[in-house]
Amino acid sequence: MLEQLESHPASVFGLFPDGVLAYVNPAWVEFALENGATTLEATPSWIGHRYLDVIATPLRAFYEKLFERAPEVGSALQPLSHVYECSSADTYRQFAMKVYALANSGGFVVINTLVTSRPHDTTQREPKLPDRARYALADGLILQCAHCRLVRRADNSGWDWVPAWIEQMPPGTSHGVCEVCLEYYYPDGD
Ligand SMILES: [Zn+2]
Repeated sequence: MLEQLESHPASVFGLFPDGVLAYVNPAWVEFALENGATTLEATPSWIGHRYLDVIATPLRAFYEKLFERAPEVGSALQPLSHVYECSSADTYRQFAMKVYALANSGGFVVINTLVTSRPHDTTQREPKLPDRARYALADGLILQCAHCRLVRRADNSGWDWVPAWIEQMPPGTSHGVCEVCLEYYYPDGD
């Protein structure tokens, strides 16, 4: 099983029952590093962190609930599956996350498979320049949606796609959730 996960093309991680990262496969590390992970560079340093602590704050409640809902291996025909966006500056990407809860509350195995990969549709998301005057809020922070990574305009008139800030997160970025993602991910309002 471990051998299969090691060479699995999808990014895979395993969690202990308390949510601490027990395992990540090479594809996961590669993806994390390609996508701007800089604070935790090498594989061993990922291990031992709580998964929910290494993802953006606004996402934590959502993923916590997701894991709680995952049926135990063998108790359902399909694992719990959740499709999410994780785009790069030039590619629109969606991943399907499959959460396998291990028997006897033994933890989780999570497989993230790329399901959509295409250039961004510029009619849907017109790329904007990284103009701090347009986006920096009163306190100087740039607010990025933790789910879709759009950036909120300082005048609060909407959210924009700013590819340069996907490539390199600007100093003083904080995370929130845009209205569209709020409705999609938190339909119950919590
Ligand atoms: Zn969003």
